[in-house]
Amino acid sequence: MKKLDYIIVGQGIAGSLLAYKLLKADKKIIVLNDESLPTSSQVAGGIFNPITGKNLDKTWLADKIFPYLKDFYLSLEKEFNATFYHETNLYRPFANEEQQKHFMRLTDEYDLGNYIKIISANNTEYSAITNTLGGLHTSFAGWVNVPKMIENFRIHFRNREVYQAEKFVHEALEVSENEVIYKDIEAKRIIFCEGYYASQNPFFNWIPFNPAKGETFLADVEGYNIAEIVNQGSWIIPLGNGKCRIGSTYVWDKLDWETTESGRALISSKIDKFLLPSYKITNQEAGIRPTTKDRRPFMGNHPLHNNVYVFNGLGTKGVSLAPFFAEEMLCFLEKNKVLMSESNIKRFYSLYSL
Ligand SMILES: Cc1cc2nc3c(=O)[nH]c(=O)nc-3n(C[C@H](O)[C@H](O)[C@H](O)COP(=O)(O)OP(=O)(O)OC[C@H]3O[C@@H](n4cnc5c(N)ncnc54)[C@H](O)[C@@H]3O)c2cc1C
Repeated sequence: MKKLDYIIVGQGIAGSLLAYKLLKADKKIIVLNDESLPTSSQVAGGIFNPITGKNLDKTWLADKIFPYLKDFYLSLEKEFNATFYHETNLYRPFANEEQQKHFMRLTDEYDLGNYIKIISANNTEYSAITNTLGGLHTSFAGWVNVPKMIENFRIHFRNREVYQAEKFVHEALEVSENEVIYKDIEAKRIIFCEGYYASQNPFFNWIPFNPAKGETFLADVEGYNIAEIVNQGSWIIPLGNGKCRIGSTYVWDKLDWETTESGRALISSKIDKFLLPSYKITNQEAGIRPTTKDRRPFMGNHPLHNNVYVFNGLGTKGVSLAPFFAEEMLCFLEKNKVLMSESNIKRFYSLYSL
């Protein structure tokens, strides 16, 4: 038997960051990941944005998690000698005069000075989009190339011989008071980081996900030269040389991993309202976000088994939430730190029945 501290199931953003932090804390781990499954992390736009929505809401814990994520990703890039963190900032052109007035009023009313700057109309930097009313520029925003980062984590884990590409079979797990046994592995604890697939996990199929399918596409946009992410109902991420990732849709009632004509048409109809050059779609992708009903992560231990854990529910914001909450999870596991009540799955224990 291999004797370990932790088994981690899943190597999306959640599993990768947590496994990385446990390794840094000198824990003996193994990451089991089914590489044949489509995943949310592989199709994520990777945007992080502290000010979102129709009412310019400051993201939950923005003042804490944004400085944290920046330091985390930059030091990770250094360690892996790779580039995947792009602090491009984000531009929201006003869609109409009503929205312009609304946003200007909110910018005045709220203390968003650190994050938001007003850009005047017809600024030449934005000649590739309709910008007749100006817009809002958000700092501390950008995107992470998530598939590239995950690939770098995989190399890191493989080099340390702590990674196995295999499907975890829940029925084969034996749980006793002091250990868990899976095939030839005996570990003190197991942590499930399975994204949307947690709905098929017999230990955690009772936690209330509100999964949302999303689609994006890649496009070659003629002469596109805007350096920031542009967002007006749909977003455009500049990948360089006129290549852009464009998205995304939200669908709650037909959950599968297939791309659709209707998804593509919906995204196109939104960007056609403000993108001026012609573009050619080169690829389309679909995924299921592990979104939760109360929009907060799922963290903590199973109601009956103190050595069976979950780290999930990163929803639409895996890139901004994962660094901070992987650290929270580490401190909870190794330093007895109490989890924030908003993210602790204790809040749903009443839904669990044997
Ligand atoms: C279209 C779209 C756009 C998005 N855009 C953004 C964005 O701009 N910014 C942002 O922050 N977030 C975005 N997201 C959300 C983001 O993708 C998620 O928050 C994040 O990827 C969730 O990561 P995860 O590790 O929890 O799940 P996943 O990435 O789904 O990873 C789960 C892992 O578990 C493995 N697994 C599952 N079951 C088993 C098993 N039985 N055995 C072994 N392995 C198993 C899978 O193979 C997978 O590797 C987007 C999502 C979609 C779909």
